[in-house]
Amino acid sequence: MLKFNIDKTDCMGCAACYSVCPIHCISMIPDEEGFLYPIASDACINCKLCEKVCPIKNPIKETSYIQTAYAAVAKDYTIWKRSASGGAFSEIIRHWADEETLIVGAAWDGFRVHHIGVLGFENISPLCKSKYVSSAIEDTFIDIQKHLCSGKKAVFSGCPCQVDGLRHFLVKDYENLLTIDLICHGQGSPLVFLECLKVIGEQLGEEVISYEFRTKRKIIEEDYLSKITTKSKSYYIAKDPYLQLFLSQDILRPACGDNCRYRDACRPGDLTIADCRGLTTIFPDLRGCKRNYSTIVCNTEKGKTVVDNLYKTMIIRKYSLEDVIKYNPLFATQTLASKDRESFFNDFINKPHDTILEKTKLLVERRINIKTLIKTYIPDFLLRFINRMIRREYSNIVLK
Ligand SMILES: Cc1cc2nc3c(=O)[nH]c(=O)nc-3n(C[C@H](O)[C@H](O)[C@H](O)COP(=O)(O)OP(=O)(O)OC[C@H]3O[C@@H](n4cnc5c(N)ncnc54)[C@H](O)[C@@H]3O)c2cc1C
Ligand code: SF4
Ligand code: SF4
Ligand code: SF4
Repeated sequence: MLKFNIDKTDCMGCAACYSVCPIHCISMIPDEEGFLYPIASDACINCKLCEKVCPIKNPIKETSYIQTAYAAVAKDYTIWKRSASGGAFSEIIRHWADEETLIVGAAWDGFRVHHIGVLGFENISPLCKSKYVSSAIEDTFIDIQKHLCSGKKAVFSGCPCQVDGLRHFLVKDYENLLTIDLICHGQGSPLVFLECLKVIGEQLGEEVISYEFRTKRKIIEEDYLSKITTKSKSYYIAKDPYLQLFLSQDILRPACGDNCRYRDACRPGDLTIADCRGLTTIFPDLRGCKRNYSTIVCNTEKGKTVVDNLYKTMIIRKYSLEDVIKYNPLFATQTLASKDRESFFNDFINKPHDTILEKTKLLVERRINIKTLIKTYIPDFLLRFINRMIRREYSNIVLK
């Protein structure tokens, strides 16, 4: 009865065990850090199916497929704007899905993140953009299985461990399923996120009513600009307290960071998408380009077939897998583990509010009202100067 994976570094919360249990006696319950773990009730009949589908117990097998990598950006400005990087996710769906395709990805539910399913390309906007908070899989694996068995197509998009969880749950390969994984820094704690919102609200003088990661604004070419809305105003904030903690790795799930099993070029998805790092070094003629690009890596023939169609709606350039690894090393190598994770959560569990205040820089000093700035019609050369100054100010935290 789910006695395996006792150590928390051995559970990614992928929910494959929860989804497979024939008598539905497993619940996904949050621990004191806010991450979900499976707990079985006394009704367990000891069939061991949960153990059989666990990706940690049954790791990925190597494949011999020769991967290819691309830098890509959507031609359609609206698609690019609503995406974290170049809009690869949306464009992949546009070319793979029909009206009856079930597309499953991470969406907001208030300030919680969970996986949901929508039908067809027209309905995918809630799934777009990164939400750097751990997402609950809920019953989406079961929904995908039903959909595939009825002969219709499905797409699943998420962190590599979630994609691997789905593959293990499904047991066999389905020609009508497309899977998309990410180059993954890790899942942030949902509880820390909620506490940070309270602190941000206090610092702005009003309760936060909505939050969006990776907003795109001309004024700062900042990768991690969040749009935070209170009752009376919207603020564009570079590296607010939550992002400071997320990027420092202190608030990741124990199975993430240095313990992650998916920092490996052998990927669980048909396609891997990510931020295209090192773009203008790899392609110097793109210097001055106003849009950020996605990286797309094809891991299977099925993935390659989709990418072959993307040329119609994306600007695409092939580049080497070596450069993907060089400029975005999380694709294939480990990073240093967080040194402060344990002490952070020891303090956070006892004094959540004070710990956030203690461990993060004050927001008020970093507040920028973009709307007002844009309204002043700053000329381009001045914009570039301000841009450089702001980037210098915030360069103390980078995603490694
Ligand atoms: C937790 C997390 C960590 C990441 N770490 C890195 C990194 O270290 N380096 C890097 O290059 N890229 C990282 N990415 C990927 C990057 O942020 C973009 O998602 C990627 O560049 C694709 O952007 P896009 O423009 O193609 O599409 P978008 O429309 O931005 O892509 C959205 C996709 O991301 C998925 N997604 C969003 N939030 C979550 C979530 N909480 N859990 C699971 N899936 C989610 C959605 O299901 C959707 O499919 C990370 C993404 C997430 C979610
Ligand atoms: S052993 Fe079987 S019944 Fe028990 S929790 Fe696992 S899947 Fe469910
Ligand atoms: S199947 Fe996933 S959620 Fe279940 S124990 Fe294994 S890693 Fe954890
Ligand atoms: S870092 Fe690894 S374990 Fe953590 S969410 Fe990403 S793929 Fe899963």
